[in-house]
Amino acid sequence: MSVPFDTVSILDVPFIKTTNADFVQQLQQDIMSHKNRFVITANPEILMYAREHPDYQQVIAQADYVTPDGIGVIQGAQILGTPLPERITGYDTLTALLTWGSQHHQRLFLLGAKPAVLEQVVANIQRDYPGVVIAGSHDGYYDDEAAIVDQIVAAKPDMIFVATGFPKQEFFIAKYRQRFDALWMGVGGSFDVVAGAVKRAPMFWQNHHIEWLYRLIKEPSRFKRMLVLPRYLRLVKKIARQERQ
Ligand code: UDP
Repeated sequence: MSVPFDTVSILDVPFIKTTNADFVQQLQQDIMSHKNRFVITANPEILMYAREHPDYQQVIAQADYVTPDGIGVIQGAQILGTPLPERITGYDTLTALLTWGSQHHQRLFLLGAKPAVLEQVVANIQRDYPGVVIAGSHDGYYDDEAAIVDQIVAAKPDMIFVATGFPKQEFFIAKYRQRFDALWMGVGGSFDVVAGAVKRAPMFWQNHHIEWLYRLIKEPSRFKRMLVLPRYLRLVKKIARQERQ
């Protein structure tokens, strides 16, 4: 990583050791100087997936910034004795960049989500961040990848948000980021939240680090995906024990 931040390694993934405020400031600088940047917001599910998929692990290694998205990453860092200051989620980073982008007339490309959701995302961004220029957008259910990339390059965006979920969004960014110098960031299910289709957990749940429980109650189908969490924590504890020996 070409990083101005210290990093903390968890399951061989280097997380940036910084705050939301400093991270967003760094991204603003990168964007203004037209740097090519790749951001991954990684949670335990992603870490465990990467362990079993070397091709995805390789993609993670190409990112400029990997942020701790999810309380499980913060807990993991604590267990390993190398604490990280705070969660840096895709959604929070997206909204911070939209706020700044609105003040500086930044150009966006939005890729991902279902067509109706994306339409609502575009409308909500135009309403809430009127200074932002939506230079292009496409839903996340496409067949012709090459055509999408041509569309992105033609739009000349400052920031490209890819919301097709992991690992699809990271594979896409790793494959095509060299086609255009901009900020490329995977934001998972964030478009559903911006559209109002999915609600972010209220502050109480976020502050008590149980946002995951809120999501589980709202979307029980996520249960199977969350089973990975205890397995992840056991693994990190085992590594911590080994390191102490
Ligand atoms: N999605 C997409 N294309 C696909 C598969 C998924 O655009 O081929 C979208 C989906 O509509 C949803 C998001 O990707 O908006 C995935 O959300 P999820 O909460 O599963 O992602 P996570 O944040 O867990 O990575």
